[in-house]
Amino acid sequence: MNENARLRSVMNLTQTLIDKAESYGAHNYHPLPLVLRQGAGAQVTDVDGKQYLDFLSCYSALNFGHQHPVIIRALLNQLQKLAVCSRAFYSEEFGYFTEELAAFTGLEMVLAMNSGAEACETAIKIARKWGYEKKKVDPNQANIICFENNFHGRTVTIVSFSTDPAYREGFGPFTPGFKIVPYDDPQAVEKAIDKNTVGVFIEPIQAEAGILVPQTGYLSQLRNICDKHQVLLMVDEIQTGLGRTGADFCYQHEKIKPDLLILGKSLGGGLLPISAVVGPRSVMEVIRPGQHGSTFGGNPLACAVARAAIQVLKTEKLSERSLVLGKKVLEKLREIQSAQIREVRGKGLLIGVELEPSAGGARKYCERLAQEGVLCKETHDHVIRIAPPLTISESDLFRGIEKISSIISET
Ligand SMILES: *Cc1c(COP(=O)(O)O)cnc(C)c1O
Repeated sequence: MNENARLRSVMNLTQTLIDKAESYGAHNYHPLPLVLRQGAGAQVTDVDGKQYLDFLSCYSALNFGHQHPVIIRALLNQLQKLAVCSRAFYSEEFGYFTEELAAFTGLEMVLAMNSGAEACETAIKIARKWGYEKKKVDPNQANIICFENNFHGRTVTIVSFSTDPAYREGFGPFTPGFKIVPYDDPQAVEKAIDKNTVGVFIEPIQAEAGILVPQTGYLSQLRNICDKHQVLLMVDEIQTGLGRTGADFCYQHEKIKPDLLILGKSLGGGLLPISAVVGPRSVMEVIRPGQHGSTFGGNPLACAVARAAIQVLKTEKLSERSLVLGKKVLEKLREIQSAQIREVRGKGLLIGVELEPSAGGARKYCERLAQEGVLCKETHDHVIRIAPPLTISESDLFRGIEKISSIISET
């Protein structure tokens, strides 16, 4: 590096902040080289004042965009009253939140946690306990059926049934009690079920695995299999829920109901973490006082934000919006003429563009797109994930899609 270049980089705020993060932050992520300062709706601005369209939406935690004014107002309003009080007491917000989320999902009871992984762990605990108490499974022999390429978070138990070596290597010993079968193959599930099976734990679209959309009818077939064998259908809608796929919940495309519904990400309105497991009373009642908990789970601030998030989803008709815009985006992307594209797939505004291995990986496309002012993130090497906020204006959406089209076509 010559002296001028060195001085430029020393004076460059972006580089300084990246250097700090790389020096003092553990290297558990590999971010694109930009440093964000502000966001509003679908737009974010970096510390150099450059603007971008956010087509990642924090992996679907930002279905409502950045800093949604109605949700911010709910947060500020609650912040001035009561933020945190533990579940040792009832709070005003908790009662309203559980009632409204139960009504919104058409299920009966809510268990609130903070992160998505915690909610998945909670669902596993509930399913096991239900198995021992209600299904009379042999003591300590419960098993849950999971899927190849699943993603449910990063705790030791959850990575115990991951099939991605990067998520597992060096983290053993693992939690037993999981059987892994291929995704999108109902017979494989039925074959794996035995008398100690308590749950089938599934993502209705495998988003982290590269936006893998199963065949139509798959979930309803699983519903029937679970009913037949008295097994809980546990649906992880942390990423697909709250409008992302063009319905309030992705399972609604198949007109079924899960036994345990797991929510997170956008439930926090894009402002803070809150997650939940929702299910029927007959299942949820197996958890009694003292058997499970979380200090911050169901805190009034998070409950107020989640209530506002559900309200915004309804009043702005974001699920319908996602459905309509998603169809248009799929059409546009399918028009791209490029030998580098293997497949374009998705539902609503959860879309993946899978590139041929010869394209050299999706990362370099995401880097080029960032230079052009569109933020996407590769998932599983060869897929560009497109998941803008559901509130994005049509003009911003198609401006971004144009950029994606031109960058893919120029290679
Ligand atoms: C993000 C995600 C999780 C984990 O949520 P965290 O809040 O990161 O713990 C679990 N399941 C799915 C489908 C997810 O997308």
